[in-house]
Amino acid sequence: PVRVRFCPSPTGNPHVGLVRTALFNWAFARHHGGTLVFRIEDTDAARDSEESYEQLLDAMRWLGFDWDEGPEVGGPHAPYRQSQRMDLYADIAGRLLESGHAYKCYCTTEELDARRDEARAAGRPSGYDGKCRVLTQEEIAAYTEQQRTPIVRFRMPDEPITFTDLVRGELTFAPENVPDFGIVRANGAPLYTLVNPVDDALMEITHVLRGEDLLSSTPRQIALYRALAEIGVGNGTVPEFGHLPYVMGEGNKKLSKRDPQSSLNLYRERGFLPEGLLNYLSLLGWSLAEDRDIFSVEEMVAAFEISAVNANPARFDLKKCEAINATHIRELEVKDFIARCEPWLTAPHAPWRPEDFDRTAFEALAPLAQTRLTVLSDITANVDFLFLDAPVRDDASWAKAMKEGSDALLRTARAKLADAEWNTEALKEAVVAAGEEHGLKLGKAQAPVRVAVTGRTVGLPLFESLEVLGRERTLARVDAALE
Ligand code: GLU
Repeated sequence: PVRVRFCPSPTGNPHVGLVRTALFNWAFARHHGGTLVFRIEDTDAARDSEESYEQLLDAMRWLGFDWDEGPEVGGPHAPYRQSQRMDLYADIAGRLLESGHAYKCYCTTEELDARRDEARAAGRPSGYDGKCRVLTQEEIAAYTEQQRTPIVRFRMPDEPITFTDLVRGELTFAPENVPDFGIVRANGAPLYTLVNPVDDALMEITHVLRGEDLLSSTPRQIALYRALAEIGVGNGTVPEFGHLPYVMGEGNKKLSKRDPQSSLNLYRERGFLPEGLLNYLSLLGWSLAEDRDIFSVEEMVAAFEISAVNANPARFDLKKCEAINATHIRELEVKDFIARCEPWLTAPHAPWRPEDFDRTAFEALAPLAQTRLTVLSDITANVDFLFLDAPVRDDASWAKAMKEGSDALLRTARAKLADAEWNTEALKEAVVAAGEEHGLKLGKAQAPVRVAVTGRTVGLPLFESLEVLGRERTLARVDAALE
């Protein structure tokens, strides 16, 4: 059975790279009818925070992911927060020491630095040189005398490590490129290098799908899974690995966590739909079919194959992300669209007083707005003219629309609107007729009316907007513009 894990560290705010990893693991698990384990890698007390943990959970829920084992749902391998599993890691580190898979290393940072510089200068591999692999009782006694506290270091095998990456194919790492590495700090704190594979082994993970940035740690982890199998930790499975391609941002640089474009909260605040964002993020390394950019997560799950993931770096393209989101907005049922707009119609997003919001008016125009939004937060600018005392006056729009002769046109239009029956058709006829009197086509004639009433040069279809706004307020705004 397929068992995959999503195992973020709760540091900082969730970012899009993290979301893509979660998505690919979730889709893989669901496609194969497998199990998704959600594990929190919070062994670094200095960097991890409870706030970040809460944000991670909240993000997973907002995205619509479910997990079979993990925080809040529990499971046979609980607890799923590594900070609550410290005794277990200490025990396993002890067993790795006893069995000779690991050893105590007394080298100080200064000594390590000096030897590394020397090796570099001589053109030799600059990783750990194995000095403490074999120590005599006398050497150990001397180090202890000097009050040195050792770290625990894993002993890498002397043969190359080869594995078949599910995305990249066969990869081989020569021993001189993968030196012995620390697994427990001098103060006894276990490191990521230990706890991540230990939990994979205990939780019987079969497939590890994660970012390419972690590829260099994979040979070390494979050696560690093998050692764990030898000492009877877990069921002996060495997971298969698939490394997801890098995501490049602006200027063809790797998209970093600190890049504002990568902050998940930003997408939520702008009003991306989770399905729009997930659709776009799935395209960072995968595609459903050559000519299909738009699909649902269900379609992704049905079609998802890890072997179809592309090893080449993917480019993050915000414009495309927005376009895909706009399509998902258009495809919502109107009722659903209205419900999703809800957070933008009230404080703190909405610029109008809550008591001035008129739901009937909003719902009348919602279908027209739906086809025009890129993100849900765009809704306020589309309908604010309905709920504000006076339209937001955009000076650039005003200058553009209110040219020579606009006043005369507006006066004629006002007179005709005052007499018109108040429905879309009649309102349009009134403005057409006003335009004709001044030798203006409809497009030119309606521009000043639109700016007078909504404050903007672009927006929802004008005559539907006027109908909903009502005669009294429409005329008052035209009068205000003429003052
Ligand atoms: N906690 C690790 C991280 O946040 C997970 C690495 C992995 O997926 O193995 O990068």
